Amino acid sequence: MKPLYTSLCIGASLALVSSSFAANVGSPFYGDAPDDHHPWAIHDPNRPQPKLVTPGTFSSQEQPGTPPSDAIILFDGSDLSKWEADEGTGVPTKWVVKNGAMECVPGSGYVRTKETFGDCQLHVEWAAPTKVEGNSQGRGNSGVFLMGLVEVQVLDNYNNLTYPDGTAGAVYGVNPPLANALRPPGQFQSYDIVFRRPVYKDGQPLDPGYVSVFENGVLVQDHTMLEGGTGHMSRSKPRAFPATGPLKLQDHGNPVRYRNIWYRPLPPRSIEGGTDGYLSLEATTAKRGEIAAMIRKDASTRKDPANPLPEMLRLTESLVYEQDADTAEKAQQLAAQYLADLQKLSPAALAAKKDEIKHLRDVTKFLIRFNIIPADAEPAIQLEQIIKDQNWDKK
Ligand code: MG
Repeated sequence: MKPLYTSLCIGASLALVSSSFAANVGSPFYGDAPDDHHPWAIHDPNRPQPKLVTPGTFSSQEQPGTPPSDAIILFDGSDLSKWEADEGTGVPTKWVVKNGAMECVPGSGYVRTKETFGDCQLHVEWAAPTKVEGNSQGRGNSGVFLMGLVEVQVLDNYNNLTYPDGTAGAVYGVNPPLANALRPPGQFQSYDIVFRRPVYKDGQPLDPGYVSVFENGVLVQDHTMLEGGTGHMSRSKPRAFPATGPLKLQDHGNPVRYRNIWYRPLPPRSIEGGTDGYLSLEATTAKRGEIAAMIRKDASTRKDPANPLPEMLRLTESLVYEQDADTAEKAQQLAAQYLADLQKLSPAALAAKKDEIKHLRDVTKFLIRFNIIPADAEPAIQLEQIIKDQNWDKK
């Protein structure tokens, strides 16, 4: 990046002007600046705060836990209003609700959610029949089908061997679970799943998709790459998925029960428009421009003829994200005014600004380091001279 101007505009965080200058924490001139693939600086105070979520509680065998506050509840033990038969839209399912759980009625077919969704954190609890019947794939078999396409196997594998890639917690036919952490049949088991569907653009894969699964809190799928959907006997092949699909639960002929089903949608990945993570140059540049515009707008609310510093700081801050000749010129003018004002101060008044001026010197070092101003910018030299004259680096 080449500086657009040759004279300094000084920047600092507004918060720091009126409070502590010591550590510079919270300053936008603190960590590494935005670059070609990261629109935010390291420790960037302009970055949106994480949303607040009230966590839920864990389940016991007797009592299902509560979901996090932002979860979308698919089944809370009361009714099947959010579900339908897999045969078609609006067809009621023959699955039944008993004692707070929804239960597969063998022969009734898969059940699916009426709503569709894609990338998610999904919580499901299930219980195989207490009465043990059948062997291998015939014992307590069901399945959690993400988007109706990827089966995380549900099976009573408590003292029941089967082919490993068909064990409970397997991505069926693709990857066995890392462990068998099942409780005895009749008890509720929990699956906590993180699912990212495959993303294609113009027929080319940008991301194959991944699934992670915790079975009763034990990691059984560790960011397992998807190879398309899952299926019986045939090797699955990578392919594009739609944006969303229903969650399906399998009828495999066993009266498996489910309870406490909820999900949280996940934000888009950077490859599909998300602004966190490693971004393309194009996406980074666009986001940096957006952040700079937001800061410039805020700067316009900080005009104060008696004190040029707040507006100057914000304008300068915007230049860290996007160089803009008009903004640079305006910040330069304000910096010149600030420095001229310093010259008029009494020795005592200047001494009172020691921390502020030393911090601004640090800011100039930041700006020089990231090539936002030139190393010989005049006001940087002036600040250094004031600090030297006052002997502030030694006191
Ligand atoms: Mg199954």
